Amino acid sequence: MSRAKSAQLFKDAQALIPGGVNSPARAWRSVGGDPIFFKKASGSRVWDADDNELIDYVCSWGPMILGHTNPIVIEAAIDSARMGTSFGAPTELEVEMARRVVDAVPSIEVVRFVSSGTEATMSALRLARAKTGRNKILKFDGGYHGHEDALLVAAGSGLANQGIASSAGVHPDYAAATLVADYNNIESVRVLLEANKGEVAALIVEPIAGNMGVVTPEPGFLEGLRDLTTEHGVLLIFDEVISGFRVAFGGAQSVYGVTPDITCLGKIVGGGFPVGAYGASAEIMSIVAPLGPMYQAGTLSGNPVAMAAGIATLDELAKPGVYEGLQANTDKLADGVIDVFRKSGVPAVVNRACGLMTVFFTSNSVTDMTSASDTDREAFGMFFHGMVDNGVYLPPSQFEAWFMSIAHTDADIAQTLEAVANSLPS
Ligand SMILES: *Cc1c(COP(=O)(O)O)cnc(C)c1O
Repeated sequence: MSRAKSAQLFKDAQALIPGGVNSPARAWRSVGGDPIFFKKASGSRVWDADDNELIDYVCSWGPMILGHTNPIVIEAAIDSARMGTSFGAPTELEVEMARRVVDAVPSIEVVRFVSSGTEATMSALRLARAKTGRNKILKFDGGYHGHEDALLVAAGSGLANQGIASSAGVHPDYAAATLVADYNNIESVRVLLEANKGEVAALIVEPIAGNMGVVTPEPGFLEGLRDLTTEHGVLLIFDEVISGFRVAFGGAQSVYGVTPDITCLGKIVGGGFPVGAYGASAEIMSIVAPLGPMYQAGTLSGNPVAMAAGIATLDELAKPGVYEGLQANTDKLADGVIDVFRKSGVPAVVNRACGLMTVFFTSNSVTDMTSASDTDREAFGMFFHGMVDNGVYLPPSQFEAWFMSIAHTDADIAQTLEAVANSLPS
């Protein structure tokens, strides 16, 4: 497997783009080596610049839940592009898209479309501050919610937990206004809310954590957050940028039966184009301009090509049996991986949700950022490189989810399990 062309492109890119990548999650810093450059994809497969074929478990970090270049989505986008790629005026497509999101997601009566998940969470925080007149926010260690200043604290996905701003350049006042609790630890939330009574505007949480690797909420955790935030007059924000339209059509909130005040969406909702969204009750959303005093705008928001792709994607996902199939695929892969590791005696645990899984190299269960960090990352690096050499592309970091699509077949899973058996860390 030659990677000469990727190596040359990476060399060129490094002179022109910081670290050669337009998002750090694409670099291979934590596993070592040079990233592969992709040039095309179809279904579960991607081809790199050197024409190597790989089974893809990144799937653009979630959006490609139908598999790459799904013909229905591509046709919808092309048809829409022919009619005009951006107007700066409202379109019927936005109404059609909003209706689908409102019908699907229990907590959303009214929705605003933006162009990324970061924009969605940033706007949701501003909305929560506007609604409550309070300034602090509470997040969880290892929760990633995009790169807005107040959210780049203990932000998982490879950022170190410093107890202060994880990123350089974050305004210290923002970092100081961000409280950090431990995922799956309701007591840590209670303590912070008691100590900051009347000051916390919002608690933001991934209802299924995806950015410390996959970590599911323990029974009662989300219910506990709902009760505590209600008691303290804090708005509960579910960041469903990963889990929305992935773990179920109505997101994690429909699975766990816990309804947040504000929901953030992204990734899948754009069908592979740049879309994010935030939504809430009509009452809360009435604060957003032009109805109310909270300003938020976007030149390309509700872009017609992206809306057309999003509509086509949601309509495919709404068909019967889609999520049952995705769950069955995930179970087949996760159970298979567990089996390979058990037979080989390599200590590993596999966390999973529908269409998501993470392999951690440890014999302890992983329930929060501390336990996710207490794993053998050198083993992960060896495993990652073995998998790529065996034709399987995984997220190049321990603290990320493998994303499955409905285009992954039994043959893909069998080939992946063979690769796992050939990639065991020594
Ligand atoms: C990816 C992600 C975001 C940020 O979305 P972008 O489109 O990358 O800005 C926010 N929240 C979660 C949970 C994410 O996984």
